[in-house]
Amino acid sequence: MKRSLIALLLLFPLLVSAKGGKEPRLVIITIDGLRWQEVFAGAEEVLMTNAKQVRDTTLLRNTYWRATPEERRATLMPFVWNTIAKQGLVIGNRNKGSKMQVANKTNISYPGYSEMMTGMVDETIRSNDPVNNPHRNVLEAANEDKRYHGSVVMYGSWQSTRYVIHNEQAGIPASVSYEAPVAKKQTPRLKLAERMLAGMPRYWRSEHFDAFTYAYALETLMADHPKVMWISFGDIDEWAHSRKYDFYLDAIQGTDAFIRDIYEACENDPFYRGKTAYLITCDHGRGFVEGWGDHGSSTKGSEATWFMAWGKGVPSLGEASNNGPFYTKQFAATIAKVLGLDFTPDSGEKLSPLF
Ligand SMILES: [Zn+2]
Repeated sequence: MKRSLIALLLLFPLLVSAKGGKEPRLVIITIDGLRWQEVFAGAEEVLMTNAKQVRDTTLLRNTYWRATPEERRATLMPFVWNTIAKQGLVIGNRNKGSKMQVANKTNISYPGYSEMMTGMVDETIRSNDPVNNPHRNVLEAANEDKRYHGSVVMYGSWQSTRYVIHNEQAGIPASVSYEAPVAKKQTPRLKLAERMLAGMPRYWRSEHFDAFTYAYALETLMADHPKVMWISFGDIDEWAHSRKYDFYLDAIQGTDAFIRDIYEACENDPFYRGKTAYLITCDHGRGFVEGWGDHGSSTKGSEATWFMAWGKGVPSLGEASNNGPFYTKQFAATIAKVLGLDFTPDSGEKLSPLF
């Protein structure tokens, strides 16, 4: 009796540490339409000095302009360049010959996210309409695996994102565009964020501000401990379409801080600490210089994307140069690799992961 009690006491810490299983955790963050130009070189001088597209050129120069691209990008995205690039890898700096792009020919959002999550291009997917994706996606494959079943959650700013993973059919809880959070534990902080969003003007019709996506996602991670989460940000693309370069830059800096907060909160939580990989990418690029606000099949350069990753299992390769072209459709294979899933896209073509 006494001996079995001692044995139980000795086992107790092991039982506690095994809670939730040893399988990897994954946080996916997508940033709609963030150009590689700003990611890798910071604010662009010709755009930040255009008085028609910014409110205060002096303020913008003081905030974001620095002498070198390295200083400018670390000012705009300090977490990316001081932490992610040092701990993990960053692909897509065309100034250094590293290329990544979408394989679809549309250079718009839904086809980009579809390519990313299904690991293939369907030429008939050519619009941003909120309709269910006909193809199986890698998050659905994760949810069907017993290690991750019921532990895959999605939050997005833009309405159509959840249709990309046809979340109801796939059984993945998801909340987008003014919908209520889908956390199992509705914490006071979630309730507060929900009330704040309800009290704000709907500036965009089918998309809420990223601050709420961030709050919902972060609080759900901490309260429910899902093993896989996709967080989809959208403000940056909207400000670019409005040709507000100052809002665009502020949103990039704000998103960098959201990412840092999410990472720090996860690594302070034993459920995620040391077990989590973080993957970030975008759905399309944008045009060059004056075409910066646009993207699409007729906007040159808007096929260009980028990718960054760090955390558990991600090699510390730093900023890539002279490699590629990599394709956004390889993102699904990368998710499958991190989670240890055997995922074959509906196309039948298995692609190589990005690391
Ligand atoms: Zn757009």
